[in-house]
Amino acid sequence: MNKPLVLQALPLLPWLEERLHALYAVTRLPAAGAERDAFLAERGADFGALVTSAAHGASNALIDALPNVKVISSFGVGLDQIDTAHAAARGIAVGYTPDVLNDCVADLAFGLLLDIARRLSEGDRYVRAGQWTAKPSVAFPLGVKVSGAKLGIVGLGRIGRTIAQRSQGFDMPVRYHSRRPLADVPWAHEPSLVDLARWADFLVVITAGGAETRHLVNAQVLDALGPQGFLVNVSRGTVIDEAALLRALQDKRIGGAALDVFEHEPRVPPEFFTLDNVVLVPHIASATVQTRQAMAQRVLDNLDAFVAGQPLPSAVPA
Ligand code: NDP
Repeated sequence: MNKPLVLQALPLLPWLEERLHALYAVTRLPAAGAERDAFLAERGADFGALVTSAAHGASNALIDALPNVKVISSFGVGLDQIDTAHAAARGIAVGYTPDVLNDCVADLAFGLLLDIARRLSEGDRYVRAGQWTAKPSVAFPLGVKVSGAKLGIVGLGRIGRTIAQRSQGFDMPVRYHSRRPLADVPWAHEPSLVDLARWADFLVVITAGGAETRHLVNAQVLDALGPQGFLVNVSRGTVIDEAALLRALQDKRIGGAALDVFEHEPRVPPEFFTLDNVVLVPHIASATVQTRQAMAQRVLDNLDAFVAGQPLPSAVPA
């Protein structure tokens, strides 16, 4: 197959951009607006491949403006911003980067869990503010024990399983919620998310995003988690009813929350900033040198395989 012209939807890791430009004729998509519209009207039919990311995705309008695109190679594992059924109907293969990020996302889930339970970020703020040496001294509040606590996992997919495995090092009993129980895991399936939240000391959310899971964690689930319970979200901001979570934290109806993802990223409601019972990080679960490099390599591998007429190493299941 002739090498397709590649359309690059967003800035990528410098290493990936260099490799892409070395191997392919690559054009950057202009930012949304009149310039992009004119560009797509004039040049949309030129491109055979689109490179994007899980967060940026590819809208149906963009896909439809690229009538000759036959492959989308996406950096990341989330599929909530790509209508894969629409792509399939157009005969477009979609590649993504599953598995290579399982370890780092699971590590961050535990980092967040430990942070909110043991008050790490709060302790850092306390030391920097000079409160440790203040006269009269300000007592630092006690944290909550993690080892042996009950861990509920929402979504036991590739990453959820890795989180469950990490929990063994902390002697944590695990139960999980998903739509289908799994036959090949030692952990108990909980068909009701409310029941899982009632049971759990820590509820870690790592389900898929998208319309089906929107506000899966709602006020009822948070109330079931209760004032001794903690929420960790490393999936997508949309999975949590963020307004309900904010109220629950303000009223101390849950113990605390640690969040990597938000409903309207990168905007985070400023009301969170005044609360000590929440830890906030900027969507960094896969953001290590090693994992981002592996993801970048997979983006290239998917594209290269398609061009070579081979099956994509990581094709989105039809
Ligand atoms: P998988 O597809 O392997 O797992 C998804 C899990 O979600 C499955 O257990 C699935 O089980 C469950 N699920 C899907 N829909 C529902 C539902 N309606 N109710 C309950 N459970 C549901 O994906 P990964 O583990 O690889 O990734 C999970 C998600 O993590 C990604 O989709 C992505 O959005 C997010 N992610 C976030 C990152 C970050 O930087 N914070 C980095 C990487 C991924 P079942 O189908 O049986 O319901």
